[in-house]
Amino acid sequence: MSSALTLIEKLAREELVDMVPYQSARRLFASGDAEQTKSKVWLNANEAPGTGDYQISSENINRYPDFQPDNLLNAYSEYCGLQRSQILATRGADEGIELIIRSFCRAYQDSILICPPTYGMYAISAENHGAGVVKVPLQNSSQGMQLNLDGLTSQVGKVKVVFLCSPGNPTGNLLSKEAIIAAIELFKDSAIVVVDEAYIEFSPEQTSTDLIAEYDNVIVLRTLSKAFALAGLRCGFTLASKEIITLLSKVIAPYPISAPVAEIASKALSTDLAVMAERVQSCNNIKATLSKWLSDRSWCNEVFASDANFILFRCTNQQEKERVFNTLVEKDILIRDQSKQMQLEHCLRISIGSEQEITQLKEVLS
Ligand SMILES: *Cc1c(COP(=O)(O)O)cnc(C)c1O
Repeated sequence: MSSALTLIEKLAREELVDMVPYQSARRLFASGDAEQTKSKVWLNANEAPGTGDYQISSENINRYPDFQPDNLLNAYSEYCGLQRSQILATRGADEGIELIIRSFCRAYQDSILICPPTYGMYAISAENHGAGVVKVPLQNSSQGMQLNLDGLTSQVGKVKVVFLCSPGNPTGNLLSKEAIIAAIELFKDSAIVVVDEAYIEFSPEQTSTDLIAEYDNVIVLRTLSKAFALAGLRCGFTLASKEIITLLSKVIAPYPISAPVAEIASKALSTDLAVMAERVQSCNNIKATLSKWLSDRSWCNEVFASDANFILFRCTNQQEKERVFNTLVEKDILIRDQSKQMQLEHCLRISIGSEQEITQLKEVLS
């Protein structure tokens, strides 16, 4: 028998009492000590190495910001080639995920669909809101982990929102554009299809933003947390038809983007675009070298192709996986264990840090 419930346990929504929050890389290794944080090599959250250089003004800081600041919306519109009415700036792409679920799924009635192994926040946000989660796993193919279109077909009419991740996290590879279009077609009368493009800057020609003009049920998610090296800023974008953006605007908080965030983000999206492009180039070069190096290790069984800023690889067995992970932790190098995810037995994920950080990692493992 369980012991007596506390007052809060009695008052809280029952399903939240035992819920486990998202195990972010930051939460898993939070030391609470800034000096210790700095001394570690963080290769577990797909953050960019190095910081930008920004100044912010305190002018007008006594005023509420615009709902969607002009400088930011204009800069993103210019960057992505869509109109301002097709863009909603949010507190990270994570807020976009939450808004979409809250706007389209009725609690305890509707469900989302995910294709694991995939980003954890879709299911967490659904669970938080009381939406169901239907899973149609990705399947292995000659082009890496790809959509199972037969599996998706069998769920038509049963879900309200479908989350696709391209490039995928933690898999790394792009979904084929034809399969994305096929999924959008399948659900065109019954569900929203979200294409999460958190990593699209690492393979920009593969974006799905062009589909927004063609289909009513498409949403694309973007973020400044990865290629733009601004994870701490909390700024993302939801791209969709004007009708969808109007709907989501009813659900989002009235002042989601603070003035300092808008100021830094607009600079990153205008004068600093070349810096981002260089960062992507450098990341892709380091990634190619690391990928080759990993595939030459005896303890590495498989290196997944990556179109993003990280590499997923599979160790030969559980013991080797533990050894690789722990050897790195002992030297204060943190990578991410993905082995609990569906189909990713013995898999670890390395974020592409600086050249020096990756060299350090190789030395420790050699
Ligand atoms: C990092 C990440 C996000 C979240 O980005 P934020 O803008 O930092 O909230 C969303 N989707 C995927 C696939 C990610 O990897």
